Amino acid sequence: MNKYILRYSSDIVDSPIIATTVLETGILINILRAKVDYDEAELIITILGDDEDQKMVIESLRRKGVEVIRLGENIVNDDTRCVDCGACIALCPTNALSFNEEWKLVVDGEKCIICGACIRACPRRSLSLQDLQEI
Ligand code: SF4
Ligand code: SF4
Repeated sequence: MNKYILRYSSDIVDSPIIATTVLETGILINILRAKVDYDEAELIITILGDDEDQKMVIESLRRKGVEVIRLGENIVNDDTRCVDCGACIALCPTNALSFNEEWKLVVDGEKCIICGACIRACPRRSLSLQDLQEI
């Protein structure tokens, strides 16, 4: 399922952007992560619907002044740096990181909510964020 980063600034941060968009479009939005300060907000969401539904929600958000960016594969592991120590696994709040049968680290991008905990914890700096995709 596609994930999107929404960013909006102080002039609209007090508005019920998500609720209004759901009411307008009739399409549900799932908030995976939210960081809201007095002057800006950054949310990570999924949109529950097909491609047309996603387009409708994105257009509605953009009309309200929200920047919308689609996320790619999220977290990527560099196999040449990773030593499969497992330090990142316990920190992941969504179980997106695990070992396979050969005790090699596996990343499940579908489950990742881009919290960044694993990136900060990795002693080998082997995890990174995939480039964001403009849509
Ligand atoms: S903490 Fe870093 S080196 Fe250790 S398993 Fe995770 S990605 Fe690999
Ligand atoms: S960024 Fe967060 S959710 Fe994604 S894999 Fe790392 S710890 Fe898990």
